[in-house]
Amino acid sequence: MILRTIAVAMTALFIAVTAQAQQAPQRTITKIAGDLYRFQNNFHVAVFLVTPEGVIATDPIDADAAKWLQDEVAQRFGVPIKYVVYSHHHQDHASGGQAFGDDVIFVGHSNMPKNIAGPHAGVRAPDLTFDDRMTLTLGGKTVELIHVGANHSDDMIAMHFPAERAVFTVDFISVKRLPFRNLGGAAIPDWVGSIRAIEAMDFDILVPGHGDMGTKADATDHRRYFEALITAVRDGMKAGKSLDALKQEISLPQYADWGAYKDWLPLNIEGVHAALSN
Ligand SMILES: [Zn+2]
Repeated sequence: MILRTIAVAMTALFIAVTAQAQQAPQRTITKIAGDLYRFQNNFHVAVFLVTPEGVIATDPIDADAAKWLQDEVAQRFGVPIKYVVYSHHHQDHASGGQAFGDDVIFVGHSNMPKNIAGPHAGVRAPDLTFDDRMTLTLGGKTVELIHVGANHSDDMIAMHFPAERAVFTVDFISVKRLPFRNLGGAAIPDWVGSIRAIEAMDFDILVPGHGDMGTKADATDHRRYFEALITAVRDGMKAGKSLDALKQEISLPQYADWGAYKDWLPLNIEGVHAALSN
């Protein structure tokens, strides 16, 4: 009887633990280099730089993630978050900033305020904005914020951490994975130019907003993928082929081992076709 009670209790515990594991977000903090850390919340990645005078954080991701990060930073490093830099305005990276409280200064590109007036309402507005470049310094450490042109959005900021030789790029460069689905009406071929601007920077470690970290060579690979894709779609359009034909005929076998190749190549073709049709 006692054994049976224990078995029932164990089963209940197992069910409770499993249910929690399914719901609880997977969150990790790992060191990138020096005082720069990578914060992963399920499939989204942000980074933060620790200085003696406080932390420069990046995308809040969502309110729960922001609160969790703020508590972890206070516990682990004993300093508060002073700045939050937005990579761009999209809700899946930029929402929840309010959770950091009123003492944090938010930085974004000057195109961001107009973008959060629409469907991305609810994203906390930036306090400081800039057009091309901004250097953020805190506690003797520096991050360079650079608008590398239009790509996945028109308010994208790349963040260069010169001492750590790292660059954080969100949603416009990934490592050995195709660009997301149909490219969301993005600026193409301007996108290629913005990857070239990243390649021109002096760094070693590439930290994308989704997926694995890489190196500068991965940025170059991503740009070459785009160029091959654009060339294939453009040539097909010049030959008078329909979008359906292009989706069936175009293959880029040198990228067949990249993530999402089968699922997203037809959607990538759709995105480039739409951009070149304008
Ligand atoms: Zn985005």
